[in-house]
Amino acid sequence: SLGSLTPDQKKSLGEIMRNGQNLLELINSVLDLAKIESGKMDLNLDAFDVVELAETVKTSLAPLIDKKQQTLTIHAQSGLPQLLADAVKVRQIFTNLIGNAIKFTPSGGEIDLFVEYHENCESLCRTHFASENIFDEVRERPAFLIRLRDTGIGIKPHEVNEIFEVFKQGDSSHTRTHSGTGLGLALTKQLVTLHSGFIVAHSEYGRGSEFKILLPQKVGNENVRSAN
Ligand code: ADP
Repeated sequence: SLGSLTPDQKKSLGEIMRNGQNLLELINSVLDLAKIESGKMDLNLDAFDVVELAETVKTSLAPLIDKKQQTLTIHAQSGLPQLLADAVKVRQIFTNLIGNAIKFTPSGGEIDLFVEYHENCESLCRTHFASENIFDEVRERPAFLIRLRDTGIGIKPHEVNEIFEVFKQGDSSHTRTHSGTGLGLALTKQLVTLHSGFIVAHSEYGRGSEFKILLPQKVGNENVRSAN
């Protein structure tokens, strides 16, 4: 056994562990991005319940949410069909976005996740994703609309489109006390794109942010690379 530690030693150990965790996260993000870049990231498709997946992410992030006395509410439309997608990657998308919402929302703030299904996403594309160049093929397909809203610090208008770029961090990031790499949203966007989906951000600076994701209910075969 290590014997008992002094409070100072405990504090140092805690910092070392956090740094290790942050480094691991950084390395994993860089590796994932490199893998996607080289076209070697495969999708392992499964049919699953999106809301159940969101609930498991909520459970795993509960310690962070509780620490800041925030609330995360999942609003699910009833009778949702299953999603055919890579569950591990969709989980990663949720974890990144909800993790950011927690980070950039002050204590006591509210985070809301909405999950909707649309048989035909034409009007959805027009209202929520007008800025995106969505091919007709996706427009005609059934899709999920996933929205994550927070009551946090928000994003400045000129930064809202840049945050999906690698290593981009908002102005306000300089003053914040927590870690970050600026890779999370770049990776999130790549994972959404791998599923033929789209992600956009909106924000009222100082009041909160909203991230919206369009995910086709089934990834078309043309997007699934074979193992070789
Ligand atoms: P980081 O590791 O800095 O969180 P991300 O790529 O996940 O990197 O995010 C990039 C930047 O986008 C953040 O540094 C922050 O400025 C901004 N951002 C992301 N999510 C939010 C949010 N929910 N509210 C406010 N700003 C956000």
